[in-house]
Amino acid sequence: MTILDLGVPTVPGTSDTTGTTTPADRPDDARLTDRYGRVATDLRVSLTDRCNLRCTYCMPAEGLDWMPTEEALTDDEVVRLVRVAVEHLGVQEIRFTGGEPLLRRGLEDIVAATAALDPRPDTSVTTNGLGLTKRAGRLAAAGLDRVNVSLDTLRPERFAEITRRDRLGDVLDGLAAARDAGLGPIKINTVLMPGLNDDEAPDLLGWALAEGYELRIIEQMPLDAGHSWQRDRMITAEQILDSLRTRFSLRPDPAERGGAPAERFLVDGWERPGGGPARVGVIASVTRPFCGTCDRTRLTADGQVRTCLFARSENDLRSLLRGGGTDDEIATAWRVAMWGKKPGHGIDDPGFLQPDRPMSAIGG
Ligand code: SAM
Ligand code: SF4
Repeated sequence: MTILDLGVPTVPGTSDTTGTTTPADRPDDARLTDRYGRVATDLRVSLTDRCNLRCTYCMPAEGLDWMPTEEALTDDEVVRLVRVAVEHLGVQEIRFTGGEPLLRRGLEDIVAATAALDPRPDTSVTTNGLGLTKRAGRLAAAGLDRVNVSLDTLRPERFAEITRRDRLGDVLDGLAAARDAGLGPIKINTVLMPGLNDDEAPDLLGWALAEGYELRIIEQMPLDAGHSWQRDRMITAEQILDSLRTRFSLRPDPAERGGAPAERFLVDGWERPGGGPARVGVIASVTRPFCGTCDRTRLTADGQVRTCLFARSENDLRSLLRGGGTDDEIATAWRVAMWGKKPGHGIDDPGFLQPDRPMSAIGG
């Protein structure tokens, strides 16, 4: 069955029972389309705004004002919204994130319910890796397909400086556990910062290639809670590639990029564990934005739809859900939200303002 079989008709220009008005210019399409021809098929679900690390580019040392428990969606509510996304809206990929999604006790149950949906979505988690030693096997058994693990350095003292916690060994053990549990291909997400770890890109790539992980280096974005990001203080994709090329020979990956945020390169002389050329990715959200092919929709831990990491408004699905809204009404509200997605993130616009929520509360 396809979503078009299930398609919920939207009637242009009329109000539904929730008071959500379908804009007159929106075509009758069951999917999460927007005005610029994009279709969101990849859903990022934040499961919590809390974290057990305090990465300097993400959270202040003292943490943040955490979301009150009653505002966060319950496991059942998360699963219901994920089901609506998959069954009514054509979403094909679900990535759980946060905050730190492994802090969510019900993660295995949420993953199991997600993997049981029809059609089965590709299901993954972005994590700092702490706790994977204990849970990787259970998550794989629940139906998790893959993990992305964030790691910015291989040096213990730098790890402690960047994350404000001395836990590098636990992350490396967690990664090995994920690999043993078959949660691959494992991607490593790295943010480089000047004077902190910007000299470490070739070491990180050498290590990732030897371990069979795929390294992806992400440009730092203006999403820190302290609003301290400065354009002229970030390491650009060009600098990242120059640094990698001091030790490796890279060629653009000829494979279709589609909506993938990472620009991928093949690393000459290296093979992936399962065969085929090894790759490295650069996510140049700031200097080479990929908004034109974005296929994302986002759900915060308190049930708000965000059309973009940088959106300055949200659409409230939690009130609809808790107010007795039907699946069809929730699907309609989600479609209307995505129809309003902006063409780009606008970081370079003179009037750019950081969103009120920091990355950890949006779901990175
Ligand atoms: N706690 C999990 C983790 O660290 O993987 C999931 C949430 S974290 C917000 C998701 C990703 O966002 C991480 O890879 C992290 O490095 C990245 N991130 C956080 N703040 C960022 C920023 N200001 N710019 C770029 N990436 C950022
Ligand atoms: Fe936590 Fe991830 Fe933010 Fe680091 S990047 S503080 S691990 S949410």
